[in-house]
Formats: sequence, C-alpha cells, structure tokens
Amino acid sequence: MKYGDQEENMANEFPFEISPMFEGERVRKDDMFVELAGPKSRGFELVRAAGSDEIKDGKFSLIGPDISEMQEGSRHPFAMIYRIAGKLVEPDLEAIVERRNHDFQNYIQGYMHLNQRYDVWVRINKDAIKKGLKSFEQIAKATMMLFRNELPFIEKIEATYITNPEEVEKQRAEAIKIYETRDARTRGLHDEDVDVFYGCTLCQSFAPTNVCVVTPDRISLCGAINWFDGRAAAKVDPEGPQFAIPKGEIIDKEGGEYSGVNEKAVALSGGEYSRIKIHSFFDYPHTSCGCFEVVGFYIPEVDGIGWVDRDYAGTAPNGLAFSTMAGQTGGGKQIIGFLGVGVNYFRSPKFIQPDGGWNRVVWMPKNLKEKIKADIPPELADKVPTEDDASDLKTLRDFLEKKQHPVTQRWTKEETAAEAAPEEAGSLAASAPGWSVPAPTMSMPPGMPAMPQMQFGGSEGVKITFKNAKITIDRIVLKGKEK
Ligand code: SF4
Repeated sequence: MKYGDQEENMANEFPFEISPMFEGERVRKDDMFVELAGPKSRGFELVRAAGSDEIKDGKFSLIGPDISEMQEGSRHPFAMIYRIAGKLVEPDLEAIVERRNHDFQNYIQGYMHLNQRYDVWVRINKDAIKKGLKSFEQIAKATMMLFRNELPFIEKIEATYITNPEEVEKQRAEAIKIYETRDARTRGLHDEDVDVFYGCTLCQSFAPTNVCVVTPDRISLCGAINWFDGRAAAKVDPEGPQFAIPKGEIIDKEGGEYSGVNEKAVALSGGEYSRIKIHSFFDYPHTSCGCFEVVGFYIPEVDGIGWVDRDYAGTAPNGLAFSTMAGQTGGGKQIIGFLGVGVNYFRSPKFIQPDGGWNRVVWMPKNLKEKIKADIPPELADKVPTEDDASDLKTLRDFLEKKQHPVTQRWTKEETAAEAAPEEAGSLAASAPGWSVPAPTMSMPPGMPAMPQMQFGGSEGVKITFKNAKITIDRIVLKGKEK
C-alpha cells in the first residue's frame, strides 16, 4: 500500500496517523476516552454487497451521538455497516471484506478494534481526541479509503455507523440472521466433498506462526470466514491473505490430517509446525491465533473438555476465566490441552471426532449452550452442565456422575483397570509418554491416560518447559540437601 504517496493528504484530512505499525496498539482503560460495543455493551459490523447505482461512493451516515457528544470514560453500543459495489463484488465476498475492517481500523493511531461480527469491541484513546479526532466520520472516511486502496475490486463504498442503542439492537438482530445464513451454506458440504481447503494469514501480523485452515467442516476460529468465503476471496485476489490449499493425500481421516495442509503448515509457520490435524483436540491440533470465539480446555480431573466463550465473564470450573485461558491459548501455537474454535465448529459433524466429539464435552456457559442448543445431540442436551450446574471441579464431577454423562464411562473403565491391576495402573500413569507425576497427586481417576505430549516428562524428575512465560517470584528459600 502506498502510504507514502498519501501522507500529505492524510495529514490534512485526518488528525491521526494511519499505518500497519499501529496494528498491535492497545488502548487500556486508563487511557481510554470512550469504549464502543465490547463485552459490556452491544454492537456488530457488517458488509453488504449492493448494485453500483445504489451507492454514493464515500458517503457516511451516523445514527446516534457522535464522538464529540460523548463523555470521557463512557461506553456506548456501536455498529458499523458498509455497503460495497464493483464489477467483481458478489455476496460471497461480504464476509472477507467485513473481516478486513479489523485490520484497517487498527491502522488508525489511537483506535483499537478487537474481534468480529457481533463481538466487536472498540476503544478510542484520549490522545487521539486531543489531536483532533471528534467525529466518527473521520474514522469511517479513513477506513473506506483503506478498503478501496487494499481491495481494488471495491469500486464504491459507503458507511453507516450507529450509536443509538435502540437502532443498534434492531439492526443487530437483522445482522445475526445474515451471519446465520452465511454459516448455514456449509452445512451440506463436507471435507471429503472438496479437493481444496483455504488458508488465511491475516492474523500472522500478531501471531506469526499461526496457520489458519478453513474447510467445509471447520469454520475459521474467528468465526468470520467459512469455506465459501475463502473460495471467493482466493478467486478475486489469489495473491491476497486468503489462498487455496490443495488437500493432497489423506493421512488421518478421523483426525483430518492431509499432506497438502502439512506442507502449508511448514511454509506458513516458518518451520515451527509440520503437522496439523484439523479435527483433533490433543494430537497436532490446529494453531490458535487469538481471535477465536471459544476456547476449549482439557479438565484432567474428569477427563473431559470444557468450552468457554469470550462473552462469559465468570470463571470456568477449573477456576480460570476466558481471558486467562485465551492468553494461554493464543499466539499462533499448537497448545496441547487448549484449542481456539469458532462457534460454528460445534455444528460440524467432525467436531473433535478423534477425541470423542460431543461425548467429551463436559461444561460450557449457558449463553453459549443456548446459542448452539439445536446442534447438541439430544441425548446429551441435559448432561452438559453450565455455570448453573457446576461452578468448581467437585460440583462438575458430581453433576457428570449424577447425569451419567458418557465421559463417566471413561472413568469406570479406568477405575476397573486400576482395581484389577493397581500396580500396573500406577506404572501406566507414571510411564505414559512424557508424564512423570503419579496419577493420585493430580486428583485424576486412577489410570486416566496422560495428556499426550504435555510438557512434563522424563524419569529424572519433572521437566517443565515454559514458552513466552513471565514468572514472578516473591521469595526463594534455598536449603542444603540433608546427607
Ligand atoms: S482467525 Fe484465521 S481466518 Fe480469521 S482472520 Fe485470523 S487468520 Fe484469518
């Protein structure tokens, strides 16, 4: 993008700098002039294709109060709707263009955009206001300029921003129907029906080893790009951030491992990863960048997998909040025991199928459960607890036992094995690959299989590998070894 050519114009037109270098910029609470949408309010972003004669290029409309009418420290609902037109513009491109709103708005200095669709979260820095930002029109004009420059198939674009609470609610309900219609398109199409998957590198700007693979049975983990969207984007801009990945040979049908994806994983991750099993939770799982809508987390105490979405403000039964687990999961890594997914992946017939699929799901917040209730296997609907049923590991285990959740069969088998051969079961836990902590100290059902490839191991004690970790220690007491 030719930012240099436009610097002078931008300096005159906008009271802020525009550059990809601001992408990682965060606006903390103390520095924030105003918060828009986000977890404590409501909002959405939407792109719609339209006929060329329906659009007045560059037009901006605002429904509700402008920035200059907002109080410092206040929070408001916020929606951004763009209509685009061009000879190559088709409805299949809407989701792809919509996802770029996140990139382009983050190029604006002092402006933070997080998430996508109905989860958007924006903050504007106090410094931006001091420098002269006073209207959403300035933001919208800069964003539209970036859309046109970066995506030349957009010939005309107009924007409507909404801050009026009632109007946001009304239009949000319509937007959710549009997202659902987009997502429903992939329901009749499966991984085995196509020869090509699609990759996306948009999030490599902050997660350089992230390898996003979008297949008919696995929507992107940000939830914004499905297989049809990837196809449309790759067609209109084959050199762009979305591109085709020929599947190649199938290596593991159940796990969803393909030679073409593995080759791309090596290339995209700079050699960090060479295998990805698209539908596996434990074995070479998909990488997680940070945009995931939901985090899956292994709970060894019940040998099940819990799921928490970014709207849930409480803690999961393992005592951790979404933000804590998201920090553990993100960064473009393959983290065994945590996995980022899009909400729509719960609807996939291949949902973590090598790990037991829905039979392994042992907890989720009630709002998330409500969102996907039509897709939960009917026999499990009342067996998956929420925060109303289980708030810690004890109440979780009690609930699963009382409801005879299928995961309890794993306990029964393992307990029986342990009773039949206690010594053997003990040594099994101790000698499982890379696992040297005896099972009882982990409060696990006896003999429960260790998490594969977890970063413990060796018979010479415990080896723990931390990557990108910050450790704070108040005091260290060193004692000599007694002889
Ligand atoms: S999460 Fe994946 S698919 Fe979504 S924008 Fe990021 S890289 Fe692309």
